[in-house]
Amino acid sequence: MSGFVRRATPTAHYQWRCDDCGARIVKGETYFRTSTGGGGTVWDWLDCLACGAMARDVWAWWGNDFGFEVFAEWVDAHLEDPRAIAWLQRIEASR
Ligand SMILES: [Zn+2]
Repeated sequence: MSGFVRRATPTAHYQWRCDDCGARIVKGETYFRTSTGGGGTVWDWLDCLACGAMARDVWAWWGNDFGFEVFAEWVDAHLEDPRAIAWLQRIEASR
């Protein structure tokens, strides 16, 4: 069975929620959309800019799953990283 992964950084035409941190992605904002498909099914995974900016590193660090807890763990371990700070600020702003 063949599958595909497609990554895009579109502009939001609707308000979404980040699938990783749960922050709002507001209309007009750029976000990351990862589409994976195979066997007639397509899954879309949405990331806000803050999560998208560090997603690759989180993946390399954790190597398994994604989700709020995984991002929070990575941020805890990388508080010197400006992307971690930006992520925390985004979570705060969206609560
Ligand atoms: Zn996010």
